[in-house]
Amino acid sequence: MTIASPLTVDQLELIAERAAERGEPAAGAAELVAVVDDGRLTDPQDAVVALGMAAELLFQADDLAGSLALTDRALDARRAHGSAPEFAQIFRAQLLFRLDRADEAMAELTPLRPLLTSDPDAATEIAEALLAGGRGETAHEWLTAAVHEARATLPETDDLDEAGELATAIVAALVIERHEVRHELGLPHDSFDEMAEELAVAAEEEQRAELTAALTEPVVFFSAAEFDRLAERLPAAAESCGPTWDAHRADIEQVLAMGAEAGITTARGIVAGSADELVALWEHAEDATVDDVIYDYADELDGRGPHIAWPPARNDACWCGSGAKYKKCCLPRSRRAS
Ligand SMILES: [Zn+2]
Ligand SMILES: [Zn+2]
Repeated sequence: MTIASPLTVDQLELIAERAAERGEPAAGAAELVAVVDDGRLTDPQDAVVALGMAAELLFQADDLAGSLALTDRALDARRAHGSAPEFAQIFRAQLLFRLDRADEAMAELTPLRPLLTSDPDAATEIAEALLAGGRGETAHEWLTAAVHEARATLPETDDLDEAGELATAIVAALVIERHEVRHELGLPHDSFDEMAEELAVAAEEEQRAELTAALTEPVVFFSAAEFDRLAERLPAAAESCGPTWDAHRADIEQVLAMGAEAGITTARGIVAGSADELVALWEHAEDATVDDVIYDYADELDGRGPHIAWPPARNDACWCGSGAKYKKCCLPRSRRAS
């Protein structure tokens, strides 16, 4: 895939995602490194992101030494921009463990231990690195100490301010990760593990509620011709709904399929949109973003109808209007990558 330069972070992500989905992570990494080397970035500071993604891809490709080299480059780039390299360092430690360089890995990781009580994302990353080095006991020890320390900072009240919310998120992340590590080590449940399981149930319920909410919103669908027209007249809207027509169809199919799988029957209506109508709304919108306008347009169409029925029978014409059978068109898109 070739994208005209310069590239944004979104486009870098697309390169990485597509390479991973094609099962060609090493090729994706090479492509990302080439973007950096050729200076084809919208913002030169994104080199850190590109190199970090490339390192992840080489890790997936089992090229640990290559992944380490790119992680070092990403860390250098971060330091050059004056930002803290912490999370890339955790990843670096994991690579060192896997490369049987345990002493260096521990030297990298130990100074990062305070992250456990300051960043809710640290627990999983640090535990993963330690487990990669067969250091489950150390992970357990660090997480347990951090849970006690973090719990001491929890506010007394239920009325949480920003700091209180952060403290709560940190304790939750630690307790959940510690629970995983304890299972890994074959340890019996303790009271923190009970808490971890309650938190897991609550998180699942929240996810379900979010999915339900998303599924009750109407969604506007643009036919192939309308999508092309939209890309021409209001590229930002096509980008937001796509960025390609295939991605647009896949996105709608995926959400509806996810809802059906979860047994959520409040399926949102698919309504067919017109590019010209959307552009007219956009031209009259004062302070709205493109996404706001698309949202309002979907709402308006939802009231006006008609709706596109979903799902069609497997051998019937696809809902997207391609003329192909559903089973050969959008049905597989919910499984395939967009
Ligand atoms: Zn358990
Ligand atoms: Zn289709």
